Amino acid sequence: MNHTSSFDNSPEAIAALSDDFDRHHLWHPYTSTLNPLPTYKAVGAEGVRIRLADGRELIDGMSSWWCVCHGYNHPRLNAAARRQLESMSHVMFGGLTHEPAIALGKKLLAIAPRNMDWIFYADSGSVAIEVAMKMAVQASISRHGSHNRTNFATIRSGYHGDTWNAMSVCDPVTGMHGAFGPALPVRYFVPQPRSRFDGEWNPDDIRPLRELLEAKCDEIAALILEPVVQGAGGMWFYHPEYLREARRLCDRFGIYLIFDEIATGFWRTGKAFAAEWAGVEPDIMTVGKGLTGGYLTLSAVMATRDVADTISRGEAGVMMHGPTFMANPLACAIACESLTLLEEQDMGSRVGHIESMLKELLAPAHGHANVADVRVLGTIGVVETVEPVDMGRFQRRCVERGIWVRPFGRNVYVMPPYIISDDDLRYLVDNMLAILFEDEQ
Ligand SMILES: *Cc1c(COP(=O)(O)O)cnc(C)c1O
Repeated sequence: MNHTSSFDNSPEAIAALSDDFDRHHLWHPYTSTLNPLPTYKAVGAEGVRIRLADGRELIDGMSSWWCVCHGYNHPRLNAAARRQLESMSHVMFGGLTHEPAIALGKKLLAIAPRNMDWIFYADSGSVAIEVAMKMAVQASISRHGSHNRTNFATIRSGYHGDTWNAMSVCDPVTGMHGAFGPALPVRYFVPQPRSRFDGEWNPDDIRPLRELLEAKCDEIAALILEPVVQGAGGMWFYHPEYLREARRLCDRFGIYLIFDEIATGFWRTGKAFAAEWAGVEPDIMTVGKGLTGGYLTLSAVMATRDVADTISRGEAGVMMHGPTFMANPLACAIACESLTLLEEQDMGSRVGHIESMLKELLAPAHGHANVADVRVLGTIGVVETVEPVDMGRFQRRCVERGIWVRPFGRNVYVMPPYIISDDDLRYLVDNMLAILFEDEQ
């Protein structure tokens, strides 16, 4: 396949790749209807390549937002979907159960932190966060016999999804708080830990959380964190000691600890779950994104037996949630096969190999004037820039060079599917850096 830049960059050529109906009638994520950025029409995807309507192929650096871990159009995942389709794609989960939900549950508990015992299936990452927060509130009311402790604490620069309560614990500046103002519940935020994942632990990092919990524990049901890797809120990797300290504080003040592993789960950081870097177990955890290998939307909330039983002993007596498509059999069957694919490989060394290549390939970014930081963890490689990146221009240049990378703000990053070859990874990162620095002398 030829990746060299013979692409016609005329407005007509770009328009031919877009679609008029799409431009005038379809909302894309975080997009203006008055001035939408161009969208490129995809007609197929295979392995790490996305094929556009004009036949060109792009090496995917995004795993379609963290989820396509085994690459596109995977024969084993396709077969699992077909098999399940032949028996049933859906039945309600109220009063009925099925093998895909049971088999997936067993696989999830086998890799989850050992204290996880109960699983609540939900439709998407954001819904899993809503469910996790509702769990914490119900359990807190039951545990403390009072309705006072229903608020949440978190750290800045987090991202937990786009629904109402998920939004409320996203970063108050870079998240959606400004747009929704007083409509959002007000949460407690403390500064993000600044100790780097691979650096020295600075004990000062935990002080704001300790002070907050000392002062406000009577109002707080849970602390919610993305363990080790903050994703869409800033692509920051922080020191695992923060999680150990946070666990101690939560225990001391009777506060539940929620880990959002929606982005970090399923080996993205080099461990099955990022919490393993700290050896810390949460009370409630959420998974999503990579769960179905990027085939369908499915998420799960896991909880300890203590959380589950405390809810069940409480006023309501039940967990107050039940989505229509709960434990969708088609999605569960695909997720099961995706977890089997992960089990069959030595994922530690697979991700370790990608990590060492990313470190080497991103090293040339150090020292450029517009580079504030370069960091790599597992299959995630980030170049933090000094000036924000022009996403429209950057994506156009990516498409010209045959790669797919979507920066946001001051973060240019890749997290490719785990199956990427060395050559494709090298092509992807070299071209990403070339685009980033092409305006420099
Ligand atoms: C993407 C993401 C979510 C939200 O998941 P959706 O499936 O987009 O609703 C929540 N938490 C984290 C850490 C995420 O990366």
